[in-house]
Amino acid sequence: MKLQLKLSHKGIILVTVPLVFATVFLLILTLLLNQAEKEIQAQIRAKALVTEAGELQKSFYDAGVAMAGYSITKSPLFADRFDNILKQIPKILDSLNSLVGDNPKQQQILAELKSIANSALKILSEAKTALATDEIDIAQMKSRNVYQQARALTDKLKVTINDLTADEEQLVNKKNSPIDSKLQVKIFLAIGFLINIIIAVLLALFFSKGIGKRIEILTDNSIRLARGQELNALVSGNDEIAQLDKVFHAMAVNLQEAMEKERAIVENAADVICSINSEGKFSAISPACKELWGYSPDELLGRKFVDLVCNDDLPETIKSARQVRQSKVTTAFENRTLKKDGSLVTVLWSAYWSERERSMFCVAHDITQRKLAEEAIKASEERIRTIIENMMVGLLIITPSGIIEAVNPSSERIFGVTAKELVGKHILALFSESRFMDYSKDYDRNQFLETFFTKSLNRVGEFDAIKLIGNDEDFPVEISLTEFNVGGSLKFMANILDVSERKELEKMKKEFVATVSHELRTPLTSIRGSLTLLSVGALGVLPEGVKKVVSIAERNTIRLIGLINDILDIEKLEAGKLDMVMDDLALSNVIERSQESVKSFAEQHGVNLIMAQTDIKVHADGDRLVQVLVNLLSNACKFSPKGGNVRVDVIDIPNWVEVRVIDQGRGIPEKFKNLLFQKFQQVEASDSRKKGGTGLGLVICKGIIEQHGGIIGVDSVEGQGSTFYFRIPKIKEPTEINKVILKQA
Ligand code: ADP
Repeated sequence: MKLQLKLSHKGIILVTVPLVFATVFLLILTLLLNQAEKEIQAQIRAKALVTEAGELQKSFYDAGVAMAGYSITKSPLFADRFDNILKQIPKILDSLNSLVGDNPKQQQILAELKSIANSALKILSEAKTALATDEIDIAQMKSRNVYQQARALTDKLKVTINDLTADEEQLVNKKNSPIDSKLQVKIFLAIGFLINIIIAVLLALFFSKGIGKRIEILTDNSIRLARGQELNALVSGNDEIAQLDKVFHAMAVNLQEAMEKERAIVENAADVICSINSEGKFSAISPACKELWGYSPDELLGRKFVDLVCNDDLPETIKSARQVRQSKVTTAFENRTLKKDGSLVTVLWSAYWSERERSMFCVAHDITQRKLAEEAIKASEERIRTIIENMMVGLLIITPSGIIEAVNPSSERIFGVTAKELVGKHILALFSESRFMDYSKDYDRNQFLETFFTKSLNRVGEFDAIKLIGNDEDFPVEISLTEFNVGGSLKFMANILDVSERKELEKMKKEFVATVSHELRTPLTSIRGSLTLLSVGALGVLPEGVKKVVSIAERNTIRLIGLINDILDIEKLEAGKLDMVMDDLALSNVIERSQESVKSFAEQHGVNLIMAQTDIKVHADGDRLVQVLVNLLSNACKFSPKGGNVRVDVIDIPNWVEVRVIDQGRGIPEKFKNLLFQKFQQVEASDSRKKGGTGLGLVICKGIIEQHGGIIGVDSVEGQGSTFYFRIPKIKEPTEINKVILKQA
């Protein structure tokens, strides 16, 4: 496994290795120096020992000589000399003792030496004493004896001293002298120093080679990155440089990706991205220019940007470009530019001036369609505003809580106040209900709004509005509400039509029709009476031809009277003036009377009448009920095939009685079922001409039945006949108790 060292580790090695080496080297050097020092000390001591030993030997020799001299001359000089030497000898022995130290061998020899020396000293002292007594013979004998003993001892001493100094002399004469040791140390010092330097240099070289080379690669990589060239392979190792290189490579990859993305964006952008240099020429441009102006990037590069600008917009564009240069932020401006084919395209420029690059960086967005759409919207808004402002109908925009948000001039006219006075008001303030409801109270507001929305949302509702000026008179309005959404909030648009004039006209028309009809009915009834008298021959037998004419005149007069009656009934119904004479009556009586009325009509159409039997009683206007049933029966006869049956059924349901008129005629198409109960509605336009009738009969029936608190309707399948029915409340049968009460009454 290859050792992966970090830069810091390498630094530590670079410092530590020479340091450790130097430390070991110093330790060895110290040891060596100590050794040399010891050796020097030992040599000095050995020298001193040899010298002292020599001194001891010499002292004995001198003592012997002094003794001999004294014995011959008796001179006190020799005696003094002898005494001095004897005094000297113990001192030398002491000195030797200190030099021997703790060397056991030498200590043993020294002890022996001391004993010999003491013996010699004793003998010498005895000899001297003998000499001093002048016993010459004895003295000489003694001194001879002593001399011999002393000699023997001295020889022994010599041998012993030689033993004592033998090692030391060896040491003193050693070839490896301290001078040699010092030299050795110096050489060692030099070599160590050299080795240390070599190690340091080698390490430095080794590491610096690895580091330097790789830093060179890093530097090269940065230059390559700047030039957009491929980077060198990753540098080896795991240290900080290798990490840095890895990061650098990753950064280069990211940068590359980012640049590719940016290029892709620029090249695929729908908008044109370009730079314009300080001379106003395109220095770079994206391919979208082909789509926008019809020019390829090559055609535009180097061309002046203003060449594209439409002449009319040139001064403004130059002004805008100057502003961009002065501004430090992205600035937008619009202008019309010329395409290669000469057509105009409106462009929105977002531009930024870079002082460093001395260029203007721009994004050009085609807003031609947007402009056209804006203009169209503007024109449409203008149109709508004109329409709204000039429409006859009043327009109010209200919130779901009923607050007026906007009004048109017609609304001002309708309510007699300005828009300012209307906006912000609650809608309740505009209606007669505000006289007894308080539009500042939530409860009243909500109650009114409920009726208001129910009556007018997506339908036309009638209301009594009030003028907000002057005598606050009532006037009728028709209101239709439509809901719409503005920016996610619900709003309502109220179309308000002042129908005062129309109502007035309708009233006048009705009065006119009523008057005319009334005035027509009397003479017509009289004509009909006369014609009947004529046709039945009460005034003499008429020739056949005249009879026919009279009969036609009579039939048409009857029809005319029927029409006038219907019109009058309708008018009364609408005015709520259709008087009812209510009574308790047997339904069977109504059915019989009706049958009697339509009998001959049914016969004329060859239709069989089948009438139900019933004992149900109703509280009703008998004549009006007969009118209803006759109308239903005559319709059934009119639209039944010859030989068909028309049946009247009576159905008893709790609290109600239902009367059904069932025919086998052509039936009623689905879409007409409800329409038939409105004025002048007929299934076929020819019905009036072919079958007679005005389209008013069912409307009158509906009015009469509703005045009885009932309902009227039709069930039919086209081609399979119809069932017209009406339902009115029936009289409850009195209970036994009630019967008693009634009797008593
Ligand atoms: P009219 O005076 O025209 O009969 P009505 O109101 O009674 O007026 O009837 C209106 C129209 O309804 C008729 O013209 C006819 O088209 C249709 N209608 C009424 N009753 C019937 C029926 N029983 N069968 C088919 N159509 C009918």
